[in-house]
Amino acid sequence: MNQLPSNFNLNDARDMDCDCGGKIFLPAYRFKKISRLLTGQPKDSVMPIELYVCSSCGKPLQELLPQELQETKITE
Ligand SMILES: [Zn+2]
Repeated sequence: MNQLPSNFNLNDARDMDCDCGGKIFLPAYRFKKISRLLTGQPKDSVMPIELYVCSSCGKPLQELLPQELQETKITE
């Protein structure tokens, strides 16, 4: 956890919401298989990616995804 200033109040912090308005997220993993042709290993490698999914709609929280896995937004 990051150090917070002593005068910090949780009410000053912004909730990170899902697109559906959900505020509760569950830890989840996505797995990427990396071809042995790329790694030179005898077998394919598996790379876990930690993400958080909305408990209401099951969509991953985009803001915490690695950049290259984020769905590109057309409107900002
Ligand atoms: Zn949601």
